[in-house]
Amino acid sequence: MAKIRVTVWNEYRHEREEEKIAEVYPEGIHAQIAKAIGCDDFEVRTATLDEPEHGLTDEVLDNTDVLIWWGHMAHWEVSDEIAEKVKQKVYMGMGLICLHSAHYSKVFQKVVGTTGNLLWGMNKQEIVWNVNPIHPIAKGIPTHFKLDAEEIYAEPFQIPEPDELVFMGWFETGYVFRSGCCWRRGYGRVFYFQPGHEEFPVYYNENVIQIIKNAIHWAAPVETGYVKQWGAPCIGGDFVPDGELEFFKK
Ligand code: ZN
Repeated sequence: MAKIRVTVWNEYRHEREEEKIAEVYPEGIHAQIAKAIGCDDFEVRTATLDEPEHGLTDEVLDNTDVLIWWGHMAHWEVSDEIAEKVKQKVYMGMGLICLHSAHYSKVFQKVVGTTGNLLWGMNKQEIVWNVNPIHPIAKGIPTHFKLDAEEIYAEPFQIPEPDELVFMGWFETGYVFRSGCCWRRGYGRVFYFQPGHEEFPVYYNENVIQIIKNAIHWAAPVETGYVKQWGAPCIGGDFVPDGELEFFKK
């Protein structure tokens, strides 16, 4: 089986500008995620905001099956042109996994069609509940697992109703959040997953990593068996093959 080509995109600012974040992710969040998901099933590369074209050249996007996105303090520095390219790629079949504060990224807003607004607050212990245990993204994940500290993200989360909800987050002060949501967009699949605040070693947690790996498998492009169309091309009207036309005449 061909390997799934994964690009892990990270803004990569907190880690370079704040010492205490660099202690958690010395080589950047992208490098940690790339390392942690590394396995025979995936071919992993990374890209960051300050690279030319944010590291997302046509060559990179053309060779990406699943794009993982982490951004926070510089969403607005992502060019509209690149965000639009990502959107078109997703609608044509590329998988997209948006992590944590990527709820406010241009790519998430464009692809899912939302503000991404939510409530947020202090860092608290979180329990991530597996509310859809037969979903492929929940494979191997227990009923629930704890994160010692995570930034509170709380409802209402302004998103279109997810096609599938896989995880719910509960914070020790009582707030709840739809922390693992799936959507289909065009030929592509999108997964949003809330854990991953930069101050904490969340991307070292084995359940979090397993969920990301499962999501990569789930979001990988699906063979359609026909040529995918972009836009709204005119198909005329003469289509029904002769034999089938006879069938409809009966
Ligand atoms: Zn955060």
